[in-house]
Amino acid sequence: MKGKVKGRFFRLWFLILFAIICAIAPVAALATQTVSVDTSLLNIRSGPGTTFAKVGQATAGQQFTVLEEKEGWLKIQLSDSSTGWLIKDYVKPALLSSNPESPKDPALGELVINGTQVNVRSGPGTTFSKITSFPQGTKVTAIDLKNDWYQISWSTGQGWIASWLVEPAPEKEATDIPAEQGIQGEVVEDLPPGQPEGTDVQSLSWNWTKTGSGIKITVQGTQPLGYSEKILAGEPKILLEFAGALKDGSNTETIDESGITKIEAKAEKDCSALVVYLSEEIPYQTGLSPDGCALTINTAYSGDMTYSGPTGKTVVIDPGHGISQSGDGYDPGAIGAGGLHESDVVLDIGQKVGDLLTREGFNVILTRPGRENLTLEGRPQIANEACADVFVSIHCNASLNATLNGTTTYFYAPVGSSLEEQRAVRQRLAAAVQSRLLEGLGRKDLGVREENYAVLRYTTVPSILVETAFISNSEEEVLLSDEQFRNQVAVSIVNGLKDFFSETNG
Ligand SMILES: [Zn+2]
Repeated sequence: MKGKVKGRFFRLWFLILFAIICAIAPVAALATQTVSVDTSLLNIRSGPGTTFAKVGQATAGQQFTVLEEKEGWLKIQLSDSSTGWLIKDYVKPALLSSNPESPKDPALGELVINGTQVNVRSGPGTTFSKITSFPQGTKVTAIDLKNDWYQISWSTGQGWIASWLVEPAPEKEATDIPAEQGIQGEVVEDLPPGQPEGTDVQSLSWNWTKTGSGIKITVQGTQPLGYSEKILAGEPKILLEFAGALKDGSNTETIDESGITKIEAKAEKDCSALVVYLSEEIPYQTGLSPDGCALTINTAYSGDMTYSGPTGKTVVIDPGHGISQSGDGYDPGAIGAGGLHESDVVLDIGQKVGDLLTREGFNVILTRPGRENLTLEGRPQIANEACADVFVSIHCNASLNATLNGTTTYFYAPVGSSLEEQRAVRQRLAAAVQSRLLEGLGRKDLGVREENYAVLRYTTVPSILVETAFISNSEEEVLLSDEQFRNQVAVSIVNGLKDFFSETNG
């Protein structure tokens, strides 16, 4: 642990970095073609087409040098001297550095996080493991820059953060304090969360409870938590390290349910660790309370319920949007205030649902990707032609009222229509999935509702439309951007479908 000298250490660092920044001369941009990703998540493939293997993913604002163009695809230079391909439609020319709106030239020093909740990783790229995450507005110190990723340092560790999710910290306000003193003062004031200053000492406690689809572990601090999170391969376990002492010292709880075998707490004078032992690799999700003082770890476990229903059922999964209604353009769906695209979120959830169902022996058909000219009528048509057993459309809700949040599942089968004979079965399908979503996600219950949506109206097989959570609500946008939450959505939908088919009994 760095301990008591950190204040001075940060001040020194900052002055050294400040000197380095001042010494960096502006570098003229080269006239090569550079593009910037114009959607929140874009697959990088090994060749020019969706049939080529996915070799990575790019996020909004990420910039690449173009080497070649072919059939609407761009060959790009990847950071590690390899190349990849991106669909041209989802990128735009990168702004020139002379444009005042363009991001500033990368410079080391103090940065402020401008994404809603930004992951810190063990290396410079999204393929590296997540160590922790910081909320918007957190200030961090950049100590290196590599491949568009900053290496940053904070009180309890170091990691890497995407350069397009941070911006240079604002200039010190012009007060009557001399500038240099002002800078020193600011660095000390704005230490990242979990940095106990002065005489306050962090004191931690923890507990666990069983939830509908797993367990929930809560670590409560007396101050904002500084922590790091590691998943250890081999023996599946989650290692969480905290700055601060545990109130009750070390202890171990043997649990042996919901995929967790044991939780072990270890305490030293000024740092503590919690090790969560898993019986297998299970999806889990971590989240910080708004004040940063409590960390929750929620596991989503589908293994408790062994599926004994009929096998060989065909499920059509329809990740909403992605392709415009007329089939000739891109429809991002709703876009969150943080820039998250509904089409990207639901595609990821849909693919996870598909993988889980395939593992359980279901026949799965995804409406996208892979069908380039899909219209709104074309989606249900896939289910109708395949004589599917069910059709599940996956969406994120959105409202102008940013406070609205929660989960809804829709069906459509009005009395007097040709769909009336499916009214009971559609309602039961919606109820089964909604109930598992509420249990797994713990979001507000907005109920099972009936709505005349085209994909529900045109399906001749039982169909539902799931509104997972509100992308227009800042809290739920953060959740929807979290892979572990999306895992939990997928597990919940799959459990709902398994319940439905078990009750149907063939
Ligand atoms: Zn939608």
